[in-house]
Amino acid sequence: MRSTVLAAPGDIRSVELDDPGLQAPTDALVRVRAAGICGSDLWAFTGVAQRAAMQAIGHEFVGEVTAVGAEVRGLRVGDEVAAPFSWSCAECPPCREGWTSSCSDGGFFGRTSGAGGAQSEFVRVPHADGTLLPLPPGTLSDERRTVNVLLAGDVLATGRHAVEIAGVGAGTRCVVVGDGSVGLAAVTMARRAGATHITVLGHHRARMARAGEADRVVDSRSTGWFDDLVRSRPDAVLDCVGTADTTDLAVSVVGDGGTVGVVGVPHGVRTAPVAAMFRHNIGIRYGIAPARRYLPELLDSITGGSLDASFLVDRHLELRDAAKGYAEMAERTTLKAVLWPQG
Ligand SMILES: [Zn+2]
Ligand SMILES: [Zn+2]
Repeated sequence: MRSTVLAAPGDIRSVELDDPGLQAPTDALVRVRAAGICGSDLWAFTGVAQRAAMQAIGHEFVGEVTAVGAEVRGLRVGDEVAAPFSWSCAECPPCREGWTSSCSDGGFFGRTSGAGGAQSEFVRVPHADGTLLPLPPGTLSDERRTVNVLLAGDVLATGRHAVEIAGVGAGTRCVVVGDGSVGLAAVTMARRAGATHITVLGHHRARMARAGEADRVVDSRSTGWFDDLVRSRPDAVLDCVGTADTTDLAVSVVGDGGTVGVVGVPHGVRTAPVAAMFRHNIGIRYGIAPARRYLPELLDSITGGSLDASFLVDRHLELRDAAKGYAEMAERTTLKAVLWPQG
């Protein structure tokens, strides 16, 4: 099968690998209909995050089931399925409490040793019953809906989680730090949660133009915005970048008694700014999204027509052209690329 591997930092290759087979009776195989390139794949691409050489990459996918192990109960060959970026058993204590990304027998597509990458024609899915969510038949016959289901498994779930951990609800004044696809998804999710004043802070004009649901878009390269944001006393700041600078910024901007929620993968962060947090009663929560927990709610909204985040995808490529998508996203000329194995 065709698959995408990270040969070394900066070197994405489209290669032929053996088709994956079922390894455990709880596995399923999925033929990938569409796969996303994620901002977190870029951390590996640029060498900031470590990967084994020739690691098959990618963790965002949707598709249809082509084989199931003997112990898989809730899925059949031919089912169209949505998937979160990590697999989870649904039975261990963290899974039962909804922390599916902490599954004691879980792992991450495109990252955990031995796991297949999603930017491939086929993916083996461990704990298929706990991980995959069957879709109404025909869901993936529509390209826009397919893109939305794909986004639900990571970007939308992560935006949704930012809203959750930062305590965004009706009437919340919130600031979203970051104009990448997760930041823009967080804007959409904050609006759905009832936030009334949403400011997005970034510095890519073309991207911020897509933040249509924000009340205010602030270019971090302009002047005067910092004092303005502090004066606006936001209840919640959603850090969708995760560097030491953005988290420090989030803590300095949030109002007294407010909460900072960090869903950007932390890079270079050593300590929290505890003195400011203590002085101003600021809470801070970090967290990888338990994406599987949010999938049913997001898919209901997508299939019901009330959620359309397809504006987050501005590039469609054939699977074999994955390297082009990585290069464009690294140069920031593309916000988010989707790869289509069947062209
Ligand atoms: Zn991702
Ligand atoms: Zn589990």
